[in-house]
Amino acid sequence: MAGKIKKAMPRVVFQRLGRLYEQMEEAYAGIAREMGFTCMDCPENCCTSYFRHHTRVEWAYFLKGLEQCAPELRTRIISRARDYVVQMDRDLKQGRKPDSMCPVNENGLCMLYSHRLMICRLHGVPTVHTRPDGQQLEFPGCFRSVEKTGDLREYPKLDRTLFYRELAGLEQAFVGPKIKSLPRVDLTLAEMIVMGLPKLSA
Ligand code: SF4
Repeated sequence: MAGKIKKAMPRVVFQRLGRLYEQMEEAYAGIAREMGFTCMDCPENCCTSYFRHHTRVEWAYFLKGLEQCAPELRTRIISRARDYVVQMDRDLKQGRKPDSMCPVNENGLCMLYSHRLMICRLHGVPTVHTRPDGQQLEFPGCFRSVEKTGDLREYPKLDRTLFYRELAGLEQAFVGPKIKSLPRVDLTLAEMIVMGLPKLSA
């Protein structure tokens, strides 16, 4: 992993991100309770999903967690992340959607659960969000959620709109005024791990 998280890293932004993550988890748990949804005994592990992430603040927060974990675990995660990226590139070149296990997962469990990214916290139940242009988008959730809900209208949906808005604000606060000059982030967690800390200047 390139570099270390600097002491000057914006603690307040990370604290706010931690709170936002808690709110996401509470909202998710509420919807799951309402619809009687659980991941228990699921035949799939959604940590093989091809998740892509889009903020530097989540990227840096996750790497902070990685930096704090036991050195042996960190070494294993980084090594698996490198393998993941090689396999991912191979899959994409051959026109396949990557489905390798996330490098952070060991024996079916997330090893950095408290630092996992937004999509890891929201994937599963049906969701909805309203884009800045007013268009509303709905997602049925994972395959198990689809099996359960059938007709989505009868089920509650987790509204991601405020979460996205708050995360965008945190990204702005984390990156600062240079945000407009930086390329868009569109990376898997494995790529983030291999690349090290996000660059905050062009
Ligand atoms: S970070 Fe954790 S929860 Fe997210 S995909 Fe990886 S192992 Fe699963």
